[in-house]
Amino acid sequence: MSFACLGLSIPILEVVAEQGYEIPSPIQVEAIPEILKARDVMAAAQTGTGKTAAFTLPILERLSKGRRVQANQVRALILTPTRELAAQVGASVDTYGRNLPLRSAVVYGGVKINPQMMKLRKGADVLVATPGRLMDLYNQNAVKFQQLEVLVLDEADRMLDMGFIDDIREIIALLPRQRQNLMFSATFSDEVCQLAKDIVNNPVELSVDPPNTAATTVEHWMYPVDKKQKPTLLLQLIKENNWHQVLVFSRTRQGADRLVRYLEKEGIKAAAIHGDKSQGARTKALAEFKASSIQVLVATDLVSRGLDIDQLPQVVNFDLPHVAEDYIHRIGRTGRAGLKGQAVSLVCADEFKELSAIERLIKQRITRKVIAGFKPVNDVPKSRLDTRPIKPKKPKKPKKPKTGQRDGKGSGNNAQGQKLRT
Ligand code: AMP
Repeated sequence: MSFACLGLSIPILEVVAEQGYEIPSPIQVEAIPEILKARDVMAAAQTGTGKTAAFTLPILERLSKGRRVQANQVRALILTPTRELAAQVGASVDTYGRNLPLRSAVVYGGVKINPQMMKLRKGADVLVATPGRLMDLYNQNAVKFQQLEVLVLDEADRMLDMGFIDDIREIIALLPRQRQNLMFSATFSDEVCQLAKDIVNNPVELSVDPPNTAATTVEHWMYPVDKKQKPTLLLQLIKENNWHQVLVFSRTRQGADRLVRYLEKEGIKAAAIHGDKSQGARTKALAEFKASSIQVLVATDLVSRGLDIDQLPQVVNFDLPHVAEDYIHRIGRTGRAGLKGQAVSLVCADEFKELSAIERLIKQRITRKVIAGFKPVNDVPKSRLDTRPIKPKKPKKPKKPKTGQRDGKGSGNNAQGQKLRT
């Protein structure tokens, strides 16, 4: 199967070829023809499967044939849960659309609203937005939806986890009823399906294997280690293996900052990326990491999902995630697009519960390795694989975001009621 068979025209095929994509990924093969037929789509696909191109390419194709966008109007709206994902999807739209006379814009909180208002004045064929900032812009008349043809919800499950349900429903109520709806989600919980019922219309349902549970390109194992020894072990691993670009996951923001201070003290260039950092600091850290001017990027789960860093060879779980599914998302940062990657976890005795939940989810025991000098005093108990099926989660009741807190100071609450920033 080639991209040319999918119904895309030459200006788009040229960009795809320039990107070095030789064959379409499974989600692209399934989704592109359906989207071009103007069907609604509900797709279970994770980051790393090529899902962004799967919806962006046919949307650009469709838009290139239609009417010109008018002032402040939007023709395709892509909603994403996080600023990082919005920026990445926006960059993909720019890239894939560079041979087409289409305008695109990206809007998210945490940065000044005025330049975004200016940009929207001429209208946007494609607008990529986080929900809170989009509502702020709408309330200031900077964005209008009379010309809207396509709505995309990217990472719908994460949007619900982050408490954006009310924002999403509010936005949908503003859109013309006649439109194409595309919903992408890593998982389809009861809650996501419930939302889908109100959004998509007789959809084509697609599903592709998550890139990492197919487990062909990511090697992953763990080092049992005492909690206190984790920073030293990480430092040793970085030095001994000469890891030049490593993404480290920390469960907490404070933990991430502490680890960065430690690594910097030891002469390793590192930066943290989490919800307490300003948007500018996050963008800068990510850019420096991509450009290899910093060696270690320490991230929390909230901001990490959707980070698309090409050819990331190394991921480290400095602590295991509370939510087992996040393990899959984390290790999915490496071994992308057919490249071999490695993901290692530093696990202490306190994390046995998380470890067992992850092993149950991935239906395998994680290989253990011990490094001389780091054998834990408090050993991690031997795990027995729990093979009982995992019951689907009950829909969570989303919390209503506080009004007036959208402009980068937060626009949603997660399941724990923590304030989130989009
Ligand atoms: P996504 O799942 O959208 O986050 O995409 C993951 C990565 O795969 C991105 O770096 C894309 O540039 C890359 N990609 C998307 N489609 C293809 C393709 N057909 N062939 C090779 N790489 C691709």
